[in-house]
Amino acid sequence: MKFVRPEEECGIFGVYNHPEAANLTYLGLYALQHRGQESCGIVSSDGMYLHSHKSMGLVADVFEDEEIFRTLPGKSAIGHVRYSTTGSSVSKNVQPIIVDYSRGSIAVAHNGNIVNAQMIKDELEAWGSIFQTTMDTEIIVHLLAMSKANSLLDRITEALVRVEGAYCLLFLSETQMVAVRDPNGFRPLCLGKRGDSYVVASESCALDLLEAQFVREIEPGEVVVIDKDGVNSFFPFKKVNPTPCIFEFIYFARPDSYIFGKNVYMVRKELGRQLARENKIEADIVIPVPDSGVPAALGYAQESGIRFEFGLMRNHYIGRTFIEPQQSIRHFGVKIKLNPVKDIIKGKRVIVIDDSIVRGTTSRKIVKMIRSAGAAEVHTLISAPPTDYPCYYGIDTPTRKELISSSHTIEEIRKYVTADSLGYLSVEGMMKAVGTGNTDFCRACFSGDYPVEFPIRLPEAQLGLFNKE
Ligand code: AMP
Repeated sequence: MKFVRPEEECGIFGVYNHPEAANLTYLGLYALQHRGQESCGIVSSDGMYLHSHKSMGLVADVFEDEEIFRTLPGKSAIGHVRYSTTGSSVSKNVQPIIVDYSRGSIAVAHNGNIVNAQMIKDELEAWGSIFQTTMDTEIIVHLLAMSKANSLLDRITEALVRVEGAYCLLFLSETQMVAVRDPNGFRPLCLGKRGDSYVVASESCALDLLEAQFVREIEPGEVVVIDKDGVNSFFPFKKVNPTPCIFEFIYFARPDSYIFGKNVYMVRKELGRQLARENKIEADIVIPVPDSGVPAALGYAQESGIRFEFGLMRNHYIGRTFIEPQQSIRHFGVKIKLNPVKDIIKGKRVIVIDDSIVRGTTSRKIVKMIRSAGAAEVHTLISAPPTDYPCYYGIDTPTRKELISSSHTIEEIRKYVTADSLGYLSVEGMMKAVGTGNTDFCRACFSGDYPVEFPIRLPEAQLGLFNKE
């Protein structure tokens, strides 16, 4: 029996009513490449038919040949960049998914993770549905195709009331583009405008590249239908307390983006300032683990008065090391990604700032690297609390067993990463720095409080996830 794989982190982008829709989507995906480097795809509509091109690889590689855009005609298009874990990294799982059904054709691109996917899939299979992929997204397409409702909006709504978890979705039919953000609003999604064209993107940085104007964020539980009648908004789902993902601020989104009403760079810098208030260390320099640690390290340096330096250089021409599905490649990856600047580090007491420790392998290698470049002391600081719990809503954090902080004390982790000291940000400090206001952010990866329940899966139950001490 094939199990449904979670969709994990991804980026979605769509354009409605532009003569070069596929080309703009290509640019949009380029700007969202940090949200997934495993595979990508674009589906366009010429008003009568849907056309698709998708493959494993980076956007620049999959769309390297200009001729491809001739095969993607039409004035609307949606695209997807995908990031996934071992097992699902196969070409049949590349998105957008495109299917023909009794009402025509429909394509869908998904960012997030449906927590009751396996249950729905088992039920659909019992009724005779045949699944082509192992992606949770395919469930939505099956439910939609089975709906007897007349409008696409109603079919989508009918399908999604069955679905629980995290989803930002973009649907494309021959004549309509529909954007949906789940009621909890876990993942970001925004609406832009460029002349007479509408644009939808996971993050606002994709609108900037297209010189599209940022109109607004799509709200939790909102369904936006874009067609010849313009943009129409609906709230068909039961209202719940929104819980956007705090980890988007900490690590995942690009610093130049505005998500959940805030600029990511400013939030990360404030996380660094708060880290300095909570962890006072005597040191000569503060260095970031590039790129995600840079704003937090700047914030730390400004708050503490300790000099900021770029002590580690990053090779930008490889994907994020974490993305490689094989453990052996990830180990190798830290070295090919980062190299110390010896003249900056030699003889110094160094504070190195990263956004998270997951398994601990990256931090350990980085500390050793800084020490072998001649540092007198290496102090590791993390601009977030310890990642104790896995994410079920689309961030690729591994099972509890693999999360070093779920089973080790801070002192044990310090020893493992071989740092002179190790400090994290408190949960309260993180909330203060993010400036959560009245919003109840999802911080399940730090607290274990999961805002949307999910069916218990045995291995995790055995690992004690449901036995919080
Ligand atoms: P590890 O070696 O497993 O401890 O990985 C830690 C590194 O992975 C840090 O430098 C983080 O910036 C990065 N990281 C944290 N969470 C994720 C994630 N969900 N996806 C990719 N990279 C991540």
